[in-house]
Amino acid sequence: MISPNTIQQITSRTDIIDVVGEFVALTKQGTNYVGVCPFHTDNEASFTVSPVKEMYNCFGCRKSGNTITFLMEYKKYDYVQTLRWLASRYNIEVEEKGF
Ligand SMILES: [Zn+2]
Repeated sequence: MISPNTIQQITSRTDIIDVVGEFVALTKQGTNYVGVCPFHTDNEASFTVSPVKEMYNCFGCRKSGNTITFLMEYKKYDYVQTLRWLASRYNIEVEEKGF
């Protein structure tokens, strides 16, 4: 198990624009960023990412969520794999807890 302290560090350091922007070409539009949705076939920028809310939303396929759900969906990671991926990206030491 990854400790709650580590999870908190990961979520506070995570920048959704930085992470989603690695997989989707994003263009700034006002306070949000838009791009072509990676979850359905589209030619338009239906995919909106809000850095303020740390959320994404697609007007085409209605998928929405945060950085963690994005990685789980896009990379097919489970929750723990996602946390480990983010921890290594942001150089956060993962504290393990046994039960
Ligand atoms: Zn979509």
